[in-house]
Amino acid sequence: MEILAEHVNYVMQELPPHVTLVAVTKTRPVELLEEAYSLGLRDFGENRVQEMCDKQPLLPADVRWHQIGHLQTNKVKYIAPFVHLIHSVDSLKLLAEINRQAAKNERVIDVLLQVYIAREESKFGLDDDEVIELLNNHETAAMQNIRICGLMGMATFTDNDLVVRNEFASLKKLFEKLRNGFFSGHEEFRWLSMGMSGDYHIAIEEGSNMVRIGTALFGER
Ligand SMILES: *Cc1c(COP(=O)(O)O)cnc(C)c1O
Repeated sequence: MEILAEHVNYVMQELPPHVTLVAVTKTRPVELLEEAYSLGLRDFGENRVQEMCDKQPLLPADVRWHQIGHLQTNKVKYIAPFVHLIHSVDSLKLLAEINRQAAKNERVIDVLLQVYIAREESKFGLDDDEVIELLNNHETAAMQNIRICGLMGMATFTDNDLVVRNEFASLKKLFEKLRNGFFSGHEEFRWLSMGMSGDYHIAIEEGSNMVRIGTALFGER
């Protein structure tokens, strides 16, 4: 508990006030989430639907649950009743299903579009053109039960800070382009989710306002 408090305080002190900390709790036992909660953390990130659904009823109702990992369309229904923000929307099909399940639950679900910025091969994430295409799609425009609230991206896993910095800068550039263009006047489009334990300092310098941190808070998984 004391060690966790030290880590939480350390990370919190480093974050500028405009940056939201999502504590990444995947693979961690419920007891640890309870400790984190008692230290004041309210935003928890999970990457597996089953795990989030197991933990959610065991924690206080004011926890904000963030889906940060790849989300399969057929799993949306399980998190739709309670999820706070889905960071990993990477297709029209997924967005449509989130909209459908949100409507069933009579709510509006906030989402981020996941953008592919890393050099590494990855199956997940949209490129800049696909983001524009998705936004301009008439089906997207008709969705009443989702709100697109920003972008999420993951940089290449490398010691080369310049590579990481450039990737984050490219995402920030797209974010600003959309904020001043497509989403101009839409206050809800305001989250740029980038930065993990190894690269959140760079991410914040490059304009992140939401970091997803696991290891730096809770130790190695
Ligand atoms: C696991 C994970 C994180 C946190 O990683 P750490 O290195 O432990 O901080 C952040 N974002 C996503 C999408 C993850 O899957």
